Amino acid sequence: MTLRCASTNAGKVREFRLAAAHFGFPGIDIQPLDNLNSIEPCVEDGDTFEANAVKKALYYSALSDEPVFADDSGLVVDALGGEPGVRSARYSPEATDQANNRLLIANLRGREERAARFSCVIALARQGELLGTFHGAVEGLIVDEPRGGGGFGYDPHFYYPPCGATFGQLDNSSKLQFSHRGQALRALLAFAASTASSR
Ligand code: IMP
Repeated sequence: MTLRCASTNAGKVREFRLAAAHFGFPGIDIQPLDNLNSIEPCVEDGDTFEANAVKKALYYSALSDEPVFADDSGLVVDALGGEPGVRSARYSPEATDQANNRLLIANLRGREERAARFSCVIALARQGELLGTFHGAVEGLIVDEPRGGGGFGYDPHFYYPPCGATFGQLDNSSKLQFSHRGQALRALLAFAASTASSR
């Protein structure tokens, strides 16, 4: 069974594809949605990760014969009232990982409260009909100094206590085992596998 992934973020697509094999769903092939770069992008204007994921899945699935999934994810920092949240990718005016991380650390300067979580919602749809939503979240702490060169986005500043490391220090497989995206993806894959086998 092929699931089409509606994301232009290469880091995410890489994680999604790795996960299908890693979590033991070799029968599920994850492919990027064809011609995604030439499709008018879906406007992500929802107030929640779920609203954005559902909006994107419905929009892009109308353009494909195969089931399409879309995710929305981000970093939620308690001391910043939940920011950057749904604006994680566009937190700073430059909207680059480097500038977003700089702003995050500047906004946390002098604050002791460092609790944060990554959240992810994946929505699956087929030809404009929503089939399901799948959730994942992982708790951590924001550290001032970046550690590790792996991952993407806020990973080098997201310290995950059970591993004694930031997500930037984990290899892709370890990150998937614990991450918000890994959890949501595992739920998606289990759902897709069960619907494929009940046909
Ligand atoms: P999205 O593409 O709209 O879901 O934006 C997600 C943004 O949240 C990314 O551009 C990153 O800034 C951040 N983000 C989401 N997941 C992760 C992760 O696993 N590691 C680091 N940053 C993440």
